[in-house]
Amino acid sequence: MSGPSDDDEGGDCVIRFPQSRTRPGPAEPARNLGLTPLSRAVGSSGRAAKGHWCSRCRGIWYSYFLEAECPVCGNRQG
Ligand SMILES: [Zn+2]
Repeated sequence: MSGPSDDDEGGDCVIRFPQSRTRPGPAEPARNLGLTPLSRAVGSSGRAAKGHWCSRCRGIWYSYFLEAECPVCGNRQG
């Protein structure tokens, strides 16, 4: 949705799942890209992590911190 000139730090979309269950929908389900290395290092179960959409991977990665970089491809555009 956002263009290549999106340099707003707070502009990435933060998604929070209430209780993650994959449910069938019309749209292609987002891939789960997992936690960032930093978040994995704190050793939690992932419950409180926030999801961040990566348009390049077409999936959601999770972080406990205000990270903006996809742990899979390094994309910072959201
Ligand atoms: Zn990515």
